[in-house]
Amino acid sequence: MSQPATCHCGLWESSPGTLRSQGVPEGFCGICDVCGAPGHVRAHPAAPVSGAWCDACYSNLATGNGVLIARAVPWIALSLGLLAAGVAVWRSLA
Ligand SMILES: [Zn+2]
Ligand SMILES: [Zn+2]
Repeated sequence: MSQPATCHCGLWESSPGTLRSQGVPEGFCGICDVCGAPGHVRAHPAAPVSGAWCDACYSNLATGNGVLIARAVPWIALSLGLLAAGVAVWRSLA
């Protein structure tokens, strides 16, 4: 199984004791920050931070709610703006 080049699995070559002392099973290089499953230390797909994420949480971060909300914000702002404009017009007519 190929792992991302940016993760810390190289520690199994250079310093396996470090990973074992953190309770990380072989084949992984970190414990997931989200769910506690074995995972890999790597860069966040959608934000400029690094952390330990399992494969499931990593793909959630890449495609999940965080990204959807970020994409939805301009549309929510636009609808609220239109709503406010509509109410202002309605009030001026009433
Ligand atoms: Zn790794
Ligand atoms: Zn996880």
